[in-house]
Order: sequence, then C-alpha cells, then structure tokens
Amino acid sequence: MRVVLLGAPGAGKGTVCKSIVDEYGVDHLSSGDILRKERAENSELGQQAQNYMDSGQLVPDDLIVAMMAGAISKASEAGFVLDGFPRTVNQAEKLDETLNANGIEIDAVVCLVIEDEVILERMAGRRSCPQCGAVYHVTNLPPKVEGKCDNDGAELIQRPDDNPEVVKQRLVTYHEQTKPVVGYYKSHGRFYEIESDQGPDNVRAAVLSILEEPVNK
Ligand code: ADP
Repeated sequence: MRVVLLGAPGAGKGTVCKSIVDEYGVDHLSSGDILRKERAENSELGQQAQNYMDSGQLVPDDLIVAMMAGAISKASEAGFVLDGFPRTVNQAEKLDETLNANGIEIDAVVCLVIEDEVILERMAGRRSCPQCGAVYHVTNLPPKVEGKCDNDGAELIQRPDDNPEVVKQRLVTYHEQTKPVVGYYKSHGRFYEIESDQGPDNVRAAVLSILEEPVNK
C-alpha cells in the first residue's frame, strides 16, 4: 500500500497517518518529522533547513527530494504513506521519477480539506512529542496524562513554528505552493478529498474505507 496524503498544515495529516500505519503496517514517511530529526542531530541538512522551517517557508526542493528519495528506497515491503511531501509541483514530478525508477506506483492520493480559521484554532492548541512526533491537542485530542506523550512519556512541546505568526505564513505558503499539487493529482486515478473537520474518528473511518477499495496492484 502506497499513499500520498495532502492537506494544509494542521489538517490532521499526522493523525490520519497513524491510522494508516496501524491498519496496514506501512512506514510513515513524514518530511517534517525527518527534518526535525535532522535538526535534533544537528546534521548539515538540519542546519540548512532550520531558517526556512522557523519562518514557515519551504526548504529548497533539491534537498527535500534527495531526502525523501532516500527514505522511499529504504521503506518496508508493506509500503509507505507520504506525509508533507510532495509540497510543490516540482517535488511531485520528481517523486514520479523516483517511483518510476523503483518500479512502484502510488495506490491512492488522499487530500484533507479544511478551512483556514479551523486550522488557526487547532494550531494554537497543538502539542507535539519531541521524541516520537505524536501530535495532540489540549482540548480536542488530549494525552492521557496532561503534558506527557502517551507513547513514551516525554514532555510535550509546542513546536516553534506553531506560533500564530508562523502558522499564518505556513498557510500562505500552502495556498501558493502546495495547492497546485492538488491540481497535479486530480487526474490521478485514485484521488480523494476528505472533509477533515468532522472529528478524528470520522476522518479515520473515511480514509480507511477509501483505502479498502481495490488498489491498482
Ligand atoms: P505541517 O504541520 O506544516 O504540515 P511539517 O511538519 O510537515 O508541517 O513541516 C514543517 C516544515 O518543514 C515546513 O513548514 C517546511 O519548512 C519544512 N518542510 C516539510 N516538508 C517539506 C517539503 N516537502 N518541502 C519543503 N519544505 C518542507
């Protein structure tokens, strides 16, 4: 199973990915999580990405494409769900080249649709685990123990790029550079849009029912 998940920052991509991973045993390839790991390790890539990320801009395509091609080549036989990539039409074209070179295809492209106002509210309450990348919301999706990750007990943080000014810039970046990727995939045989402001359980059910349909291969 190979899935591309599209949607604005805060649309709930990470939460949906977790459902897909639990159901299909695929790898979660999140460009944002991989970049944050690179930064935590203070790698050259991490350093190069830092200023773009903290100001809500996209990291240059060539860096991201190489990083994600590496992740795809190492993905498990079960497949993967791409989260946060591709984010520009150029990245989508490069992804197609990578898939062709590996003789694999995407089974479904799922786009989460949501209003900007809902996103701003969600991001204000969003908390993340710096260790495993799990995402919570102080009221909509709280952890079992306040301030602690359910998976590993780590102290939850507010991501530096979740402050309202940077969120606004990320939304501008999304509308200008990533929305065209939705157009790019609309002609894909298995392209689906899902309203993501309907509660996590309904979103999960909608996504899983789409993926249950017979896949290309
Ligand atoms: P979001 O919640 O906005 O989807 P991510 O965790 O996916 O956040 O990404 C955080 C930041 O990492 C982005 O704002 C951007 O700077 C950088 N980034 C992630 N994926 C990409 C990509 N495919 N292309 C360019 N930059 C990226």
